[in-house]
Amino acid sequence: MKVTPAQRNVILLGAPGAGKGTQAERIVADFGLPHISTGEMLRAAVANGTEMGREAQKYMESGALVPDEVVIGVVRERLAEPDALAGFLLDGFPRTIPQAEQLDAMLAGAGRAVTHVVLIDVPADELVQRLAGRRSCAGCGKLYNVTFDPPKTEGVCDVCGGQLTQRADDNEETVRNRLAVYEEQTAPLIGYYTERGVLESAFGGGKLPDEVYAQVERILSD
Ligand SMILES: [Zn+2]
Repeated sequence: MKVTPAQRNVILLGAPGAGKGTQAERIVADFGLPHISTGEMLRAAVANGTEMGREAQKYMESGALVPDEVVIGVVRERLAEPDALAGFLLDGFPRTIPQAEQLDAMLAGAGRAVTHVVLIDVPADELVQRLAGRRSCAGCGKLYNVTFDPPKTEGVCDVCGGQLTQRADDNEETVRNRLAVYEEQTAPLIGYYTERGVLESAFGGGKLPDEVYAQVERILSD
């Protein structure tokens, strides 16, 4: 389904492993929004060995959050690009209340505001199981899950034939650390955006990506 243009300034919220990447792909295709993933932008900076990338890498390898000033700088530059002026899908940002406040101020300065916050809500036990099975293509970056969304041939990308790899920060110890960090710092955002009347939840526990997306689509069509 293609949706007519409207100002949608969307934030996708959910714990690591909630399936945000899959939902983001479909939102981008249907609603025509640029996908602004701070995780992807930071990983690209790390891969390119930029100064910011080297700084971010120290935190990402231990499962900690990259400091606000680094992430906010990246987001500010990206939101000012022409394709983001008519709407956007933010994924991986904000992660803390101070980041959310900075985003609100940034948008208000341009006469804009967050219009939709979509929470993909998945129970913690299921998240651990999902993260351990997560793989991504070294060639094109497509995401898979060995349990929930396997490739046709084990270890090989359906799209480009590239090799599937596990991200360093998906190992079990780092996964537990990331979920703890999420609970402590990001879960308060649910309250923040609920108070502002922009948050709605899509329930993802035990559900297929299609079933989750049907809920997401309804939320964003309002
Ligand atoms: Zn691929």
